[in-house]
Amino acid sequence: MARIAVIDYDKCNPDKCGHFLCERVCPVNRMGGEAIIIDEENYRPVIQEASCTGCGICVHKCPFGAITIVNLPEQLDEDCVHRYGVNGFVLYRLPIVKEGMVVGVLGPNGTGKTTAVKILSGQIVPNLCSDNDSWENVIRAFRGSELQNYFEKLRNREIRPVVKPQYVDLIPRAVKGKVRDLLKRADETGKFEEVVKGLELGNVLDRDIRHLSGGELQMVAIAAALLRDAHFYFFDEPSSYLDIRQRLRVARIIRRLADSGKNVLAVEHDLAVLDYLSDIIHVVYGKPSVYGIFSQPKSTRNGINEFLHGYLRDENVRFRPYEISFTKTGERKSQGGEILVQYPRLVKDYGTFRLEAEGGELYVGEVVGIVGPNGIGKTTFVKMLAGVEKPTEGEVDWSLTVSYKPQYIKTDYEGTVYELLSRIDEAKLMSSFYKSELLNPLGIPDLYDKKVRELSGGELQRVAITACLIRDADLYLLDEPSAHLDSEQRLAVSKAIRSLMAKNEKTALIVEHDVMMVDYLSDRLIVFEGEPGKYGKALPPMGMREGMNRFLAGIGITFRRDPETGRPRANKEGSVKDREQRERGEYYYT
Ligand code: ADP
Ligand code: ADP
Ligand code: SF4
Ligand code: SF4
Repeated sequence: MARIAVIDYDKCNPDKCGHFLCERVCPVNRMGGEAIIIDEENYRPVIQEASCTGCGICVHKCPFGAITIVNLPEQLDEDCVHRYGVNGFVLYRLPIVKEGMVVGVLGPNGTGKTTAVKILSGQIVPNLCSDNDSWENVIRAFRGSELQNYFEKLRNREIRPVVKPQYVDLIPRAVKGKVRDLLKRADETGKFEEVVKGLELGNVLDRDIRHLSGGELQMVAIAAALLRDAHFYFFDEPSSYLDIRQRLRVARIIRRLADSGKNVLAVEHDLAVLDYLSDIIHVVYGKPSVYGIFSQPKSTRNGINEFLHGYLRDENVRFRPYEISFTKTGERKSQGGEILVQYPRLVKDYGTFRLEAEGGELYVGEVVGIVGPNGIGKTTFVKMLAGVEKPTEGEVDWSLTVSYKPQYIKTDYEGTVYELLSRIDEAKLMSSFYKSELLNPLGIPDLYDKKVRELSGGELQRVAITACLIRDADLYLLDEPSAHLDSEQRLAVSKAIRSLMAKNEKTALIVEHDVMMVDYLSDRLIVFEGEPGKYGKALPPMGMREGMNRFLAGIGITFRRDPETGRPRANKEGSVKDREQRERGEYYYT
C-alpha cells in the first residue's frame, strides 16, 4: 500500500493543541525517528510519508481533526497526476478528452474536478506528484494514452480552451456593462444571433449585468463560452439556477457543440441533466480535500447507476455503504391520513406579476414537491406560507409553526456554525437520531468550528438546511435545497428530509428543479403554470403521476425509468420512447 498523509492547515493550530501535539505523540518520533517534523519557517507540522507507519495516533489526537492518513493501492502511485505540495491534496488520473464527444464528470465537491480542468486547459502544469514543471515530462508520463496527443497540442499552443466557470454569481464583480456588449466582445464565431435565440437571451440583451438573476447570469456565461472559437470547452455546473426546461435546452446546445467536432467536458450534479448531456462519464471518487481518483470512462447509464449503487464495478471500489434506490412513486403510501392544514386560495399581485394559488390541503408526514419554471411565483408562494410576504388576497392565519429556508441565504452571522446551530436546538445536535439521519450524512460536524461568514456556497447551503430542519415546527419550507450541492449531498439531503418527516410526523414543502431529487423526495406535487414574469397559477397538491405528467407535458419532455435503479431518465427528443409516451400522454413513468 502507498500511504498519503494530508494536513488541512486551515484547521491546524499548533498553539491551541498544546504545541505540536501530533509530533509529541507520534510513536516513530518518540523512538527517535522523524515521521513528523516541524517546518519552523511556516510554523507547522510536516508528515514524512516514507517514515510514517500509518498508526493513526496523530489523526485521533489532533483536537482539530486536521490530519488524514489513507492507505491506497501501490499501483496508483504511477497514476499520480498532481499534488498541492507536501501533505496537500492528491489527484490521480485524468478524464479523457475526445473530439466530438461530451465527457461528463460526476463526483463530490473537493475531489479534484476543477484541478483536472485547470490541467487540461493549461492553467496548471501537473507536477506529477514530485517537482515537475515541464510539459515534456507530462507528455512522457501520458505516452501511449489518448492524452499524450492532447498535451502535445496544448504545449504547442494548438489547443485553445474556454471555461464556463462554476460561480456565475461572481461575474458582475468582474465584468460591467450591458449583456449585448459582453456577448458581442466574446463573439468570435459570428453566431451571436443563433446563440442568443437558442438560450432565449433576447429580452436581457440591453440589461446591465448587475441586474441579472442567477438563471440569467448562467445563460449569459454559457452564451459567452459558446461564442468563443475554441477547441476545448469546459462547462462547470451549467445547470445551477436554471429550471428543468432551460437545463435540457442548454444540454441540447452543448451536445450540438460536440457534434460539430469540439472537445467538451462538463461537470454536472443534476444527474438527469448529466445523463442527457453526456456521451460517456467519469465518476470521481476519493475523500474530499484529501485525494480524488478519476474512474475509467463509463457509459453514461452504467456510470450513473454505479454511482447510485455506491459501487464502481471495474475499479472494485465501494464508496458508499448503501445503495440509493428509487421507490416506484406509485408504490408510495397513498394519501388521506391526518390533515395538517387546509390553506385558502391566495393571490399576490406585484403589479407587473400576478400569482394565483388555489387552496389545498397538506397531510401530516408527507413531502410535497413544488415544480414549475423560473419566474412563475414559486418563491412568492412559499414566502406567503412562511409569513414573509403578505398575500394581496386570502389570509394565512395558521396556528402552525413554520420553519423556512429561503432560496438566497444571508451570511451576516458572526459566530461559528456550532454557535449558530446550538442556539436553535443544542439537544438535537447531541441526539443520536439527528446525528445519524441528518448531521453526519450532511457532514455538519466537520463544519462546527468554521465561521458562518467564511463558508463556501455548498457548506452554507448544508448549514441552512440543517438550521431549518432542527427547528421545532409543524411545516418545513425549503426553497431550492440542491443549489451548490454535489450529487451525493443532494441524495443525502433528500434522504434526510424524507426520514425526518416520516419519523417526526411533520410536513415539508420543497421547491426544486432537480428532477431526480423531486422524484426521490416527493409524495405529491404542487405544479405551477402560467407565463414566467407575467402571471403564475399554483394548482392544488396532486399525486406524483398526475403532477409530473402535467408539469412535463407543459414543457414537452418525456421521462422513462431506468429498469435497474428505477431512476428517471429524460428521453431524447423524437426517440421511439419519446414518441410512444407522448402519444399515450405518459410523460413520466411511475
Ligand atoms: P472540485 O472541483 O472537485 O470541488 P478542486 O479541484 O477545486 O475540487 O479541489 C480539490 C482539493 O484540492 C480542494 O479540496 C483543496 O483541498 C485542494 N486545492 C485546490 N486548489 C488548491 C491550491 N491552489 N492549493 C492547495 N490546495 C488546493
Ligand atoms: P420563482 O420562484 O418561480 O422563480 P418568484 O416568486 O421568485 O418566482 O418571482 C415571480 C415573479 O415575481 C418574477 O417575475 C419576479 O420578478 C416577481 N417578483 C418577485 N418578488 C417581487 C417583488 N417584491 N416586487 C415585484 N416583483 C416581484
Ligand atoms: Fe496540533 Fe493538529 Fe496541528 Fe498537529 S495537526 S500541530 S496536533 S493542530
Ligand atoms: Fe506518526 Fe502514526 Fe501519525 Fe504516522 S500516523 S505521523 S506514525 S502518529
